[in-house]
Order: sequence, then C-alpha cells, then structure tokens
Amino acid sequence: MKDFEFHRPATIKDAIGLVNGREGAKFLAGGQSLLPVLKLELAEPSDLVSLAQLKELREIRVDGNKLLIGALATHDQVHRSPDVQRAIPALAALAGGIGDAQVRNRGTLGGSVAHADPAADYPAALLGFGATIVTDRRAIAADDFFTGLFATALEHGELVTSVAFPIPVRAAYMKFAHRASKYALVGVLVAETAAGVRVAVTGAGPKVFRLTAYEQALTGKLAASALDGIAVAATDFNSDAEASAEYRAHLVGVMAKRAVQALA
Ligand SMILES: Cc1cc2nc3c(=O)[nH]c(=O)nc-3n(C[C@H](O)[C@H](O)[C@H](O)COP(=O)(O)OP(=O)(O)OC[C@H]3O[C@@H](n4cnc5c(N)ncnc54)[C@H](O)[C@@H]3O)c2cc1C
Repeated sequence: MKDFEFHRPATIKDAIGLVNGREGAKFLAGGQSLLPVLKLELAEPSDLVSLAQLKELREIRVDGNKLLIGALATHDQVHRSPDVQRAIPALAALAGGIGDAQVRNRGTLGGSVAHADPAADYPAALLGFGATIVTDRRAIAADDFFTGLFATALEHGELVTSVAFPIPVRAAYMKFAHRASKYALVGVLVAETAAGVRVAVTGAGPKVFRLTAYEQALTGKLAASALDGIAVAATDFNSDAEASAEYRAHLVGVMAKRAVQALA
C-alpha cells in the first residue's frame, strides 16, 4: 500500500472541500471495499478523507411514502432498524445478507452505492425500488446512476448523503451467494411498486440492470409461472471460476421465481 495523507473532518462541508481540492483524494467510509483496493495497489489515492465523524449521515427515517437512509448507515444498522423492517422488510433482509458480521458492522450504504461492485446487493435494491441517490449537489434516479463496471454518475468529490427509497407495496430479494464472500453470483429483486412491477438483477452482468421482459410478464400476472418460457440471454454475462455466463442466466430465472414466491 502506498503512503497517503489521512484527514478526519468534522463537517460535511470540510469533507467535500478536502476531496474537491485534491485530484487524487477519496472519501473513506467503512473501508470494506476501498482498503482491499489499496492493499492490492489498484488505486493510489494521495489523500483519504474519513467520513466517520459525520454522524448526521447515519440517520434512518420514514418520511411519508419514502424511507430515507443516510449514506453512513452501516449494513447492520439497516438490517436492524425497526423503520426499515416495518417499511421495507425485504431491504432489511438484504442488508442482513451482506458479507459477514464484520463487514456489516463497518460497511455503509453510501460506500456500497459509490463503489458499484457488479456483485453487490444494494444496487439491486436501489434499481428495483426506483430509489433516488441524494448527493451534496443533486438527486440522481437509480436508473441513471449505475453506468458501468464499478462506474457511477458521481463526479469527483461528489458525496452521497442519503438514499430515498419509495416504499413498495411488497418486495423480495433472492440471491445465490458466493460461498465465502456472500457477494451475489446472481441476486434478483422483485418489487411491486406504485409505478408498476420492477425487477433488478445484480451479479450477472458488468452492472446491475432491470429485466424488462420479466417486468412485463409479471405486470400481467404476478406469479412465478408468468416467467415460464422467458429466456434470459447470457450475452455479456460474467463468467468466472464460480459460475459460467450460461449458469448465471439460468440462476436469474430461478432467483426471480423464488423472489416472486416470497413477495411480502
Ligand atoms: C469479505 C467481504 C465480503 C463482502 N460481501 C459483500 C456482499 O455479500 N454483498 C455486498 O453487497 N457487499 C459485500 N462486501 C462489500 C461491502 O458491502 C462494502 O461495505 C461496500 O462495498 C463498501 O462500503 P464501505 O462503507 O466499506 O465503503 P469504502 O470501502 O470506504 O469506500 C468504497 C468507495 O466508495 C467511496 N465512498 C464511500 N462513501 C462514499 C460516499 N458517502 N459518497 C461518495 N463516495 C463514497 C470511496 O471513496 C470508495 O471509492 C464485502 C466486503 C468484504 C471485505
């Protein structure tokens, strides 16, 4: 790991100022993705700006028909929050299935969203629920946020402050997890929302995506049998030692049906 300057600002304004003033600077949240990246020397930031002091970014609350979760809320806080469990139980369950206890106690919603790992769980929730990512300068619809492999619409120095989740009628998330890390080999979130049925898939391709063929089929009939016979093309799907692209395409169908059956 290369040397860097470490900063621990007390305000959001200072944190943003520190990163914006330095081309090579990065925010540090839970460190569960960034520190492995640094150890592997896949990134060599000049400065790390810790968000740890910014307690106001940990808030979780329901506001009308939206669930608002601060960017610094840890996966464990989201999993255990009574507000999340009441408003969107599928989201509480998703957070509880991330990694292990150590990862859940350090890793944050904002860090996961900004990192945009193609096998991460939260991106499926953001896209599946039609969430809005709120930053220090704008609000970005999840449909416009995830732009590619580890790539998002965020600009340098743009801080994710919270995510607003519209509360769905019902939803479920099912993943086929990597045996060690628990990242999704394939994860599918199905949500019946005020705007219609949404289906989001993570782990299968280079970035999270919506499966419109499934959405259309489930709009007519919200039952697992509605997905019978709808082929999922493995084109551009990930292929690695854990699963081929074709196996992932098969898993998309299996996980989607399980999610529909589990809708609550
Ligand atoms: C062993 C292991 C198993 C894991 N298993 C899973 C799993 O099953 N499912 C899953 O989804 N994830 C998994 N993860 C990843 C984990 O969820 C991370 O917590 C998450 O990806 C990053 O969150 P973080 O808070 O640790 O971010 P960090 O590592 O601190 O930062 C990640 C990136 O986001 C940027 N960043 C952080 N916060 C903000 C912000 N508020 N605004 C803008 N940019 C920001 C940083 O600059 C950095 O580029 C696993 C990680 C490990 C180590």
